[in-house]
Formats: sequence, C-alpha cells, structure tokens
Amino acid sequence: MKALQLATIALFMAVSAFAQKPQDTEDWSRQPSAITPVTKGHAPSDAIILYSGKKDIDNWVGKNGKIEWSTKGKALEVKAKTGMISTKQGFGDMQLHIEWRSPKKVVSEGQGRGNSGVFLMGKYEIQVLDSYHNKTYYNGQAGSVYKQHIPLVNACRKPGKWQTYDIFFTAPKFNADKSLKSPAYVTVIHNGVLIQNHVELQGPTEYIGKPSYKYHEAKLPIKLQDHGNPVAYRNIWVRELSDL
Ligand code: MG
Repeated sequence: MKALQLATIALFMAVSAFAQKPQDTEDWSRQPSAITPVTKGHAPSDAIILYSGKKDIDNWVGKNGKIEWSTKGKALEVKAKTGMISTKQGFGDMQLHIEWRSPKKVVSEGQGRGNSGVFLMGKYEIQVLDSYHNKTYYNGQAGSVYKQHIPLVNACRKPGKWQTYDIFFTAPKFNADKSLKSPAYVTVIHNGVLIQNHVELQGPTEYIGKPSYKYHEAKLPIKLQDHGNPVAYRNIWVRELSDL
C-alpha cells in the first residue's frame, strides 16, 4: 500500500512538472500603443483628420484640381455637376468615420433623393441615400454596398439629420502576376448599428453588369460622390489599419 502511495505521488509530481501554467499563454510580443479614444465626436489621437470643417479642405481635391463643393459652416456639401472630390492621400485597409446629412427638404424619390456615396479606394461604394421612408432597390439603399450587399437593417434618420458611418475596410490584395489574391471585405456601422457584417465584395462598384476585380494599387484615395443632390459631410477621419 505504501509503495502504491509513493508511486502515485511520484506520478503526480511528474505530471505537475509538465502541466501548463497560466503564463504559458500570455503574449508579450506587441504592446498596443496607448491612444486617446473618441470623445464627444472628436477623432482618436492616432487618426488622420480628413475634414473637420477647418483648413483641412486642403486634404481634398476636386475635378480640375480645385474644390467646388460648398464649405459653408463646418460641412462639406455637394455642389451639383462639379464632380466627385477625393482625398489627396491614398488608403488601403482602414477604419473610416464619416458623418453625412441628406437635404431636409425632400424633392425627389428613390435614387434621386439625397444620393451621394463614399467610394473606398475610389472604387467600392458604400451608398449614401435618404432612405427614410424612401423605397428603392434594397442593394441600392443607404448603407448598401452598392449593387452588391443589402444592409441588415435600415438605420436611417430623418432627412436633414446628421448620420454616422463607421466603416472597417479590408482592401483586396493582388499577387505579383496581378491576379486576385484575396477580395475586399467591409463592415459598416450606421448610426451605431451594425448593417454590414464583414461582407465580401465581388469587385469595384458597377452601375450596370456584374463586378469583377482588376488589379490596382494597394492604397488609393477615398472619393465622395456628386450625384446631383446637396448632401453634406463633416467630421471625417481615418485610421490606417495596415500601419498598426
Ligand atoms: Mg450613390
């Protein structure tokens, strides 16, 4: 009996020596930078401010190299027929915060009502539309990945109210021979509500026909669409995820 007890103790000690410890699964390989998070609508400290209603309009360029959109107040507003505007800097994988407002006065319907768009890399449109009691094809309403993904819900506020998009974008990656390595993915939060959950993009936005990928650079400018309606934007900031 005594021998059995000793053997049991020895076995217990041997097993204990090989047993895993809490520290074995601790990861000390990368210390996350301490940043100042979002407070009262202000960007986090590691964001690139693209538009805050001040002189940072210089971060943008329009058709023929100038900005013809209105910059009255602290908003950047579409001026019809002046074309898209784009950031001077290019971005790939990103977190983008952008606030938008469709006109308070409702003048049209469907795709003609408060239409604009956030074109990630200038190619992949997250639709901006006044979708408050305004029916259109579902993969073309506010928060759709235009003509590719219907939003999970319609989280639109009334016309004339400011709305937020928080967009998490994984850019497509290409092989050395310029074939597609991995597609783009996007997650979108509209007014605090998840509406696109890591959906896969089939290619750049197409108005007509099926999308398909064509090689492009790893970083490209963000563009905002002039669709003829006076949609306004403010408080635009971006974090480059590939740099973290
Ligand atoms: Mg649009």
